Amino acid sequence: MSEAHDFIPFALPDVGDEEAQAVAEAVKSGWITSGPSMRSLEREFSQYVGGDVESVAVSSATAGLHLALEALNVGPGDEIIIPTWTFTATAEVVRYVGATPVIVDVDPLTLNMSLESVKRAISPRTKVVIPVHMAGLPVDMASFSRLLAGSGVSLVEDAAHALPAVGTDNRVGSVGLSAACVFSFYATKTVTTGEGGMLTTRDPDIAARARIMRLHGIDRDSFNRYSSVAPGWFYDVVAPGYKYNMTDLAAAMGRVQLRRSDAMHRRRTRIAQMYREAFTDLPVQLPAEAPEGQVHAWHLFIVRLLDEAGIDRGTFIKRMSDRSVATSVHFIPLHEHTYWKPYAPDPLALLPNAVAQAPRAVSLPLSSRMTDGQVNQVIEAVTGSLK
Ligand SMILES: *Cc1c(COP(=O)(O)O)cnc(C)c1O
Repeated sequence: MSEAHDFIPFALPDVGDEEAQAVAEAVKSGWITSGPSMRSLEREFSQYVGGDVESVAVSSATAGLHLALEALNVGPGDEIIIPTWTFTATAEVVRYVGATPVIVDVDPLTLNMSLESVKRAISPRTKVVIPVHMAGLPVDMASFSRLLAGSGVSLVEDAAHALPAVGTDNRVGSVGLSAACVFSFYATKTVTTGEGGMLTTRDPDIAARARIMRLHGIDRDSFNRYSSVAPGWFYDVVAPGYKYNMTDLAAAMGRVQLRRSDAMHRRRTRIAQMYREAFTDLPVQLPAEAPEGQVHAWHLFIVRLLDEAGIDRGTFIKRMSDRSVATSVHFIPLHEHTYWKPYAPDPLALLPNAVAQAPRAVSLPLSSRMTDGQVNQVIEAVTGSLK
């Protein structure tokens, strides 16, 4: 190589001076844990995703998913249907509440949970189905909603990848068809607060319960039911809650990130388009695009190595790294992990799409901070690695 290339990390958080200044201001304000910035972020987030939804800021998407299941009274004996193609967080919250995860297959094109697979998995014990908007490609919520209509089964969206995305029922997060939707603001996600998350819902009972349970089960409003003015010192503990609140330091950063969300999304969409154009003739399957009228968040760009490529994933990843480009894998499906195996018996028969697709999947760097030069370096590395 004639030109010296810098190493391209897999995911560079797109944060800078504006975020640093916002955090510094929060520090100096003296209010560093949950306070005015968190409440402002919740308000702004509701406006961003869909107007009259309630937003509940939390310390992570994992916390938000846990709170959603808790608020829906999920417990031992209940079955929760989840896709095998996801991060372990989607599954672990099911165990937090003592319920049983039922692990189902994905569609081979979209890598989103397969409707057919969910149909087969539904039982009288099914309480919640958790679709994951994989890589930011919106799940067809309308078809899941039709499938579950009248069954009493709730939908909770794992939208960790899906800010901003628009699906069949409007913007992901507007919760037109689900009980709750949960976003992640983890360091590598499309909008970040370092660690953080947001739960949105249109159900006032879910919102109220999640607000109580995110902070020790403390209910500051219970006094108001008996008296018009609660003294400032009063609080009542109504349940053994959790410590899942978002700090004002994180929220200050989140407010800047949310303002920049559309611009960052435009850049990721452009990068995805550059990859797509460059790879059309290569032996890789490109990620599915959002259907007409919908919007992909482009959190991840997952390619799948076709047989014609003639190399396995490990070799491809090594060749990329030799060309100074980091890659990643999203995800090692649940059924391959020691702890989840017992919950996914007979993957060959029940999860054939995931079994066939998982070994081929590689994620390429995709961050709104990448320059055209860096994108071209990734393109050259992919092209060179597949020669
Ligand atoms: C990142 C991620 C989560 C968890 O997000 P945290 O904010 O780190 O808890 C959940 N589900 C999926 C699909 C994720 O990728």
